[in-house]
Formats: sequence, C-alpha cells, structure tokens
Amino acid sequence: MQEVIMVKYGEIALKGLNKHTFEDMLIRNIKRRLKSCGEFEYSRRQSTVYIKPLSEDADIDGAIERLKCIFGIAAIQRSAQLPKNWDEIVKLGMPYLEDVLSCVKTFKVDAKRSDKAFPMKTPDIQRELGGAILSAYPHLKVDVHNPDVTVILEIRDTHAFINAEKLPGQGGMPVGSSGNALLLLSGGIDSPVAAYMMAKRGLNVDAIHFQSPPYTSERALMKVEELCEKLTPYCGDIRFYCVPFTEIQEALRDNCPEEYFTIIMRRLMMKIANKICEEKDYKALITGESVGQVASQTLMALACTDKASDVPVFRPVIGMDKKEIVEIARRIDTFETSILPYEDCCTVFTPKHPKTKPVISEVEEAEAGFDFAPLLEKAVKEIVIKDFKA
Ligand code: ATP
Ligand code: MG
Repeated sequence: MQEVIMVKYGEIALKGLNKHTFEDMLIRNIKRRLKSCGEFEYSRRQSTVYIKPLSEDADIDGAIERLKCIFGIAAIQRSAQLPKNWDEIVKLGMPYLEDVLSCVKTFKVDAKRSDKAFPMKTPDIQRELGGAILSAYPHLKVDVHNPDVTVILEIRDTHAFINAEKLPGQGGMPVGSSGNALLLLSGGIDSPVAAYMMAKRGLNVDAIHFQSPPYTSERALMKVEELCEKLTPYCGDIRFYCVPFTEIQEALRDNCPEEYFTIIMRRLMMKIANKICEEKDYKALITGESVGQVASQTLMALACTDKASDVPVFRPVIGMDKKEIVEIARRIDTFETSILPYEDCCTVFTPKHPKTKPVISEVEEAEAGFDFAPLLEKAVKEIVIKDFKA
C-alpha cells in the first residue's frame, strides 16, 4: 500500500493569479529541507503537495519533523493512498489505521468528497466508514464532540486518502516569497524570535552581528552562531555577517558624551547594516526591539534609531510582553541558548544614565564630535561571512 505525506497550504491557497509562484517556492523549500531524508516524488493538486517516498529507507518521520517547521504549510497528513473503490478503502484502510486506533478509546469520522462523481454522498461515507471502524475495532466508541482521534477520509481527484492524524503546520508564507531582509542578531531572547516572526511572513532572513572583542568573548560569538543554527529549520539557509565593532565603540567612548553612548551606538549599527543592505540588496532590517524594554527602546530613542536607516526597520515583537516573546523562544528552541550568560557589545561601556528621551538634533550634535565614516567603512571591509545551511 502506498503511503504519502499530504501537505496542505495555508494562506497560499487564497492567492489569486500568482498562486503558482508561491506554490513553486514552497515546493522548492520543502525539497531542499527534505533532501537528507531520502528520495521522494513531489506533485501538487488541489492546494495540496503530495510527497511520496520512493524507497523503503525514505525517512518519513524525519521528513514530517522538518515539514512542521516550514512556513506556508497549514497542515500535514501522513496518509494511505487508496483506490477510489469503497471495498478497497475499507479493506486497506482499516489495517493502516491500526497503530493509532488500537491505542485510543473514542473517534469520529471526517469525510471530504471533492470528487463529486464518487457514488456515495458525504453523510453516507461518514456513516459507512464509522460502521467499518467499529466492526474492525470493537473497543472503540464514537464521540463527535471530543474524540481521541479524528479519522479523515478524503475522496480526491485521483485517489482516496485516509489518515487519523492531522498535524498543524507553522502557517505563514513560504520563506523567500516576500523578499530579503537583514536581522540585527544579538545573543538575547528577542532578536531570534523577531527572525522567526518575519520569516513566517515569507521574508528570507540573513543576520548581522556586532562583536567587540576582547570586551566580548569568543564564547559570546559561538552563542550567536548557535542561534543562527537553531533558526535554520524555520528560516532556511542563513548568511551570517559578523562585524568587528571594537574600534567604533572605543572611538565612541573616547569622543562622545556618555549619556548618548547607547543611542549613538545603535545608530552606528543601523548605518553599517544599511551599507550591507545596499551592497547585498536587502530591502529591510529586522530588530528584536520592544517598546519600553530598555532605555534605547523608548519612543524617542526608537525614532532616533530609525533616522539612521534608509530601509524600513521591522520590529515584530514591538508590542509583545517579555513573557510572550519567551513563549515563542521556548517553542522554537532558541531560549536555552539565548539565556547563556555571555556579554553583548550593547553591554560594553553602558552609560550610568542613558538619555531616555533623546532628541535627534542633540544626538546628531553629540555624534559630530567624531568622524565615524572611515571607521564604518573599515568595519564593513572587515566583515566575516559565514553560511548556515538548513
Ligand atoms: P535581544 O534580546 O534581542 O538581545 P534586548 O532586549 O537585549 O534584545 P537590546 O540589547 O537593546 O535589547 O537590543 C535591541 C536589538 O538590537 C536587538 O533585538 C537586536 O536586534 C539588536 N542588537 C543588539 N545587540 C546587537 C548585536 N551585538 N549585534 C546585532 N544586533 C544587535
Ligand atoms: Mg541584547
């Protein structure tokens, strides 16, 4: 009996004329991610991607684990592909469901008949299938309100498909379908979550990190690299730009008023990130800023940060509580890495009394005490690039 993984689209299904472009992108992302799970054949019909294992040793469980992280997928159903003949459906379908049905007590049936030429109507299918399940598994009871499992039978164009487990996908749009953006990735909790959220909207996310050795350690950098690694199941391949920031921070310390250190530092980060955007064609920046979290995240500070950027700055966690951000961080498994206690360049030379209400004219005046341009150019030249593969 042929088993297939059915992947149902989320939002893509609602797209109009350009739906195919989104489908192509989703399938391309899926193929890339499943490469290491063995050989599969891919086809698509009726807002579904069918993934058929081509050999015995194809790792279906592994494939499903990967599919659970891919954006653009609403649901995943590992199903038996059956001929559209009622006797065959029952004969082959009942043993196929044994693993699941033998260890539950209640079930219900959910039948979908998109092939209107199939001779039985949906209510008849539901009733007949329910009866067949009860005779094959007499320990079961029907519970339409709160069943342990729902057996799904779909009569589609070429075959019937039966399964007893519909796994939720991540939803969102296929990564790459909304363009390229550059994430300012610190070692903290927020920025990895920000990456996840924007990748979910179809952005292809690469990351830029500012490090200030010897004030920040090799371990701190390894931690950020580990975060990149942990984001790849969701974001796909990530190009990582590591910027040497020490000289710039020292110049800042030696030449600018202390209360402006943080805001100027953030603006310098923005300027370097903008240079990379221009060179490598990223259309937006992403940060993990959230209103009110720290001194650099007041409205006025954010406004001054924004003025240093020509491209839009996306802050998907801007209105979230730390608790909500932590919940996502735990779910995507970045939390444990984020809380490792290594320093970030943001905590180097932090002022005792940072300006919480900076005004752009004053910030610019404070910046004018030193010509940062040559140092910014130099830092961009010295960027180290590393690629993380999904
Ligand atoms: P996070 O938890 O993401 O570190 P945070 O609460 O610590 O955020 P800040 O340290 O003020 O807040 O940083 C705000 C944002 O600035 C981060 O979310 C990140 O996008 C960016 N950022 C901070 N430090 C760095 C860094 N060293 N390299 C790149 N981006 C950084
Ligand atoms: Mg931080």
